[in-house]
Amino acid sequence: MKPAQIEEMFRRFQAHNPDPRGELQFINPFTLLVAVVLSAQATDASVNKATEPLFKIVQTPAEMVALGEERLRPYIRTIGLFNTKAKNVIRLSEILLAQHGGEVPKQREVLETLPGVGRKTANVVLNIAFGEATIAVDTHIFRVGNRTGLAPGKTPREVEDRLEKVVPPAYKLHAHHWLILHGRYVCKALKPDCPRCLINDLCQFKGKLLAVDPVAPTSPKSLAKKGKSENAKGSGKAKGKPSPKRARLKKKKGPA
Ligand code: SF4
Repeated sequence: MKPAQIEEMFRRFQAHNPDPRGELQFINPFTLLVAVVLSAQATDASVNKATEPLFKIVQTPAEMVALGEERLRPYIRTIGLFNTKAKNVIRLSEILLAQHGGEVPKQREVLETLPGVGRKTANVVLNIAFGEATIAVDTHIFRVGNRTGLAPGKTPREVEDRLEKVVPPAYKLHAHHWLILHGRYVCKALKPDCPRCLINDLCQFKGKLLAVDPVAPTSPKSLAKKGKSENAKGSGKAKGKPSPKRARLKKKKGPA
């Protein structure tokens, strides 16, 4: 993608959703850190379901340590890998208490030393809790970066480094959320909603479908509301025979 196209892409994201938010629920930097650790290979919705009652009684590292691993487990047992995650959450709470005065550190290299915290988790915490212009590359951003031609890369780190270079500074703070929401609700892995995509004309994905109405594209935000119920039920169109164009798109799946 050319710089002017990238600028236009983010201009449109911003126009449609000026204040994008993540979907994980949290109260403070510590509960955000816990929620992000729990969200590895799990959906935000499943994490929110577990943390809603948990965060009513635990909001600090001291309270988490007092709760203990045994009593933490039942709260998070619906989340994948909950045994390992329970261990990590208790251990990282102990470290925050012993070495960081009970605060979540603001330095990436320190965050990454905590159990269960990798580069992606550190990027999310730095971005959301501390307002740093980091871009955590998850499966959605990896796909969107590659498909659209915005930031091609073979690994999440390659995509992240590319995004660092090409995203205009004015859009960096919110780029993470715009791209995640776009990948989650519009540029979906199996059925990207190209005909209603906000950036259809800018996207370089060879298998994309044409926009049905380029002057009235649908934003990720509105699709987020609408898409959930439609996905659950399956729209009439989705149930029918796929159009030849859609069948062609299915065969040409982009990198996920
Ligand atoms: S046009 Fe299709 S492939 Fe390209 S970004 Fe939009 S939804 Fe994704």
